[in-house]
Amino acid sequence: MRQKIVAGNWKMNKNAEETEDLLNDLIDQLPQDVDAQIIVAPTFINLASAVDHLEFTNIAVAAQNMHQNENGAYTGEISADMLKSIGVNIVILGHSERRAYFHETDTILAQKVTTALKHDMTVIFCFGEELKDRQNNQHFNVVENQLRDGLFHLENNDWEKIILAYEPVWAIGTGETASPEQAQEMHEFIRETIRKRYGSNVAEEVSILYGGSVKPDNAKEIFSKPDVDGGLIGGAALKASDFAAIVNGV
Ligand code: 13P
Repeated sequence: MRQKIVAGNWKMNKNAEETEDLLNDLIDQLPQDVDAQIIVAPTFINLASAVDHLEFTNIAVAAQNMHQNENGAYTGEISADMLKSIGVNIVILGHSERRAYFHETDTILAQKVTTALKHDMTVIFCFGEELKDRQNNQHFNVVENQLRDGLFHLENNDWEKIILAYEPVWAIGTGETASPEQAQEMHEFIRETIRKRYGSNVAEEVSILYGGSVKPDNAKEIFSKPDVDGGLIGGAALKASDFAAIVNGV
């Protein structure tokens, strides 16, 4: 059975005190016995306190980004080694906001993935088409290219450390989600694309999350689709009761 995963991407939200408050609320409200991996991704400066805070819980901590190089003159950046040194073993890479606002290309992302795996980190690799791509019926091509250019340099056994997150850009923060059928159709295509390149074992084992306006009232139906293995949650991850309700739907 594939691992079910629900991850909260907090983006640029919550200061130190608010981070502690949300973590406390999550510890109180998240189900203990859920058969899914639960991950939260606070901002860089709150990662160390989040790791401390969640030490004896079933909630793991991820970073939202990292630099592809090991260290050096990259003002404002954070390396894999720095994340590992505070106990962060998971990193989100390739989020559409990083691609759009910070000009992260497929080439840079492929390097970031390689660096993260070299440090034995788990990568949540994000990708997804823009509205114009879907309107032009290019969404499958765009997704296939993002997978190929970002990940297809990997070896089969690297995939144990890869989680995929399909996030159609038109559904992020817009309140408009992909329908459960649209999500399933794309997730099936993604798994098939992985199967063609890496074979059935990798394709069947890799968890594929859906992200884009997942809320308590639509999570369960989206997660019920056979190729949807959980979600990457933005806005609704910022309120413990909403995030807990979504986790309960997985
Ligand atoms: P929303 O859930 O706010 O649409 O954000 C999704 C997302 O970008 C998660 O990474």
